[in-house]
Amino acid sequence: MTHGFDLNDRLEQREAQNLRRHLEVAESVSARTRFADDPKGEPPEFGDEAAVFASNNYLGLADDSRVQRAAELGARTVGTGAGASRLVTGDTRVHRRLERDLAASKRTERALVFSSGYAANIGTIDALAPDVVFSDELNHASIIDGCRVGASETVVYNHCDPDDLRAKLDTRAADVDGDEQWLVVTDSVFSMDGDIAPLSAICDAADEYGAWVMVDEAHATGLFSDSGGGVVQREGLSDRVDVQLGTLSKALASQGGYIAGDEVLIEYLLNAARSFVFSTGLSPPNAAAAQEALRIARETDRTTALWDTVATLRDGLETMGYEVLGETHILPVVVGDRSDALELADRLRDHGIVAPAIRPPTVPEGTARIRVAPMATHTDDDIARCLDAFRTAGKAVDVL
Ligand code: PMP
Repeated sequence: MTHGFDLNDRLEQREAQNLRRHLEVAESVSARTRFADDPKGEPPEFGDEAAVFASNNYLGLADDSRVQRAAELGARTVGTGAGASRLVTGDTRVHRRLERDLAASKRTERALVFSSGYAANIGTIDALAPDVVFSDELNHASIIDGCRVGASETVVYNHCDPDDLRAKLDTRAADVDGDEQWLVVTDSVFSMDGDIAPLSAICDAADEYGAWVMVDEAHATGLFSDSGGGVVQREGLSDRVDVQLGTLSKALASQGGYIAGDEVLIEYLLNAARSFVFSTGLSPPNAAAAQEALRIARETDRTTALWDTVATLRDGLETMGYEVLGETHILPVVVGDRSDALELADRLRDHGIVAPAIRPPTVPEGTARIRVAPMATHTDDDIARCLDAFRTAGKAVDVL
């Protein structure tokens, strides 16, 4: 008899279901970089340079010298690690400065940073402990896991469908006696479809029932409004969204997550969110880097460069005959069949373009796609190479 784990067997099962993933070493996080196939080689043997259309470093700030200098300064003046939970001795001036700037960009009273966006979602939903979470069917895994950890009852509504949300709120209201606390939660930008939640209509529906609204701005933070405040800010909904969440790890080129909202929300979370209370504070270099990236996002035309690149690519791909979903800086190029998508991604790679195939079960059957994520630092040459690769590879795979 054995009570151990047969992990080889589990990995083989994943392999058989096409769900086994492999790591690949990148030389840097730049818009152009080299990759090594064998992650065990030391030093790694990097292949030819490729243009990366697969990163969430949307503004290309993760290797920007100003952000790098800010991280260095944070490390030198405060330290490389916070050393303790924020509630013990890990609360430093770099955390406070970042939180002040995040709150200003989100137009909220206060903000609180966590060690990741994932930790922020889990800790916040768990701490709020809603009786019911009404959740968009395409919400991010960290929201879904937050509902699991918080053991809330979850009611899933149709993607970006405020009418379905309202119907589900209504059904629950008819079924329940007495007071319940309800949280409506949605991503603002959905990363696999590149679309935007109808936030105003969602707030209207939630308001009718007095439910709270929480919006995950992971893919929108640093973008969409002059203040870098995401879609909530662009739509003027700061006063109607009770809980704004985001990450520092995408456009803000760092690591960590945040919640922005009223003073009382933040004061409650720093007492009750277990992923905040029982986890070491965000590292000072990460906090300092995110603060500088937010400043650059707000004060320079980096975002304009990104939107220009997005427009050129969308236009080029659609003119070629591809269907490109969404309305944001994320361009999901629909291929349909999952093996065609895989083959197209492989051929793009042969042409020096890195853009992943997204297949079922991540997206519905028959809608396999290539997720193209442009960066503000892509050059005209990168964009031309990307479009050429899609043309040649698309014809070879027979999806054009
Ligand atoms: N929410 C959304 C919508 C995300 O896409 C992600 C990251 N992919 C997260 C939360 C988690 O953020 P982090 O990477 O900072 O843990």
